[in-house]
Amino acid sequence: MALNKKQLAHLEKRLLDERDRALRALGKFDNMAKADRESADSDLAAYTDHMADQGTEAQEREKAAVFATKEGRYLYRLEEALRRMYSDPKHFGNCHTCENAVGFERLDALPHARYCIDCKRKEESAA
Ligand SMILES: [Zn+2]
Repeated sequence: MALNKKQLAHLEKRLLDERDRALRALGKFDNMAKADRESADSDLAAYTDHMADQGTEAQEREKAAVFATKEGRYLYRLEEALRRMYSDPKHFGNCHTCENAVGFERLDALPHARYCIDCKRKEESAA
């Protein structure tokens, strides 16, 4: 069953909202990376203080990098979903494996979902 116009409009908004959120999260990461480079250029007097904090800073950087990767991938999926929606709205919301409807409720929770819950479960149990 194809999604109706109202459902598509709702999912478009969901995708755009999620994309904004992901972009903001990624922008924050960029600013952090920039601040990091700037502090690396600062004078040597600050260096010793810097050393004391290095453990936690390295941990923070690592966390931020993982977050950015995950967020980056998520952003890519959201944009891919938007492209699918604009280029072929009639088929948006169909499972890429079995072509059954993914279902509006599942898409509302996960607007970039490409597979219905059955195919997703099969894929996960195969992995
Ligand atoms: Zn399926």
